[in-house]
Amino acid sequence: MKIKDLEFNEFISESKVLESVQSLADRISSDYSDLAPVFLPVLNGSFMFASDLIKRINVPSRVSFVKVSSYQGTNSSGQLKTLVGLDESLFNQHIIIVEDIVDTGFTLEKIINELKGLGVKSVEVVALLRKTPAREKNIFVKYVGFDIHDEFVLGYGLDYDGLGRNFKDIYKAAR
Ligand code: 5GP
Repeated sequence: MKIKDLEFNEFISESKVLESVQSLADRISSDYSDLAPVFLPVLNGSFMFASDLIKRINVPSRVSFVKVSSYQGTNSSGQLKTLVGLDESLFNQHIIIVEDIVDTGFTLEKIINELKGLGVKSVEVVALLRKTPAREKNIFVKYVGFDIHDEFVLGYGLDYDGLGRNFKDIYKAAR
């Protein structure tokens, strides 16, 4: 499949994604059985993952959204353009940040620091995909769907310059 200047090949099928989402949901439901967690999906990229994940959680939960603008092109600049949606309603809550993909870990670091400033009770992260650099940056992601190499992926909520979020499978850019 070609999008703009890049060729993409299928990488993780929808059925593999959903298998992983189910097992993440089972672990979280069991870990938070008495905690009424607040899921905090990071928009835009995590909308599809968040929807599939949260409807498989079988303990009473809240959902609140944070929005971060995605970066341009296929490289993380390390610059977070905007972060909106964090407020005092999160005080004293058990937060689970829902990320589509963790690359450098810069976005998570920033969100986690802001959450701590709001006085949340606990913060964990669930990420469908994690690239190798996140581990180097020492961001602890408790729930990870797939560990991948440093490659550019698209689909299942993830875009390339705004395009491709709609695809149900995950694709990677051909090298
Ligand atoms: P980080 O701050 O960890 O470097 O970047 C995290 C954010 O960058 C993700 O939430 C996502 O929006 C974007 N991102 C990182 N890697 C990729 C990728 O391979 N494909 C797409 N479409 N977005 C990515």
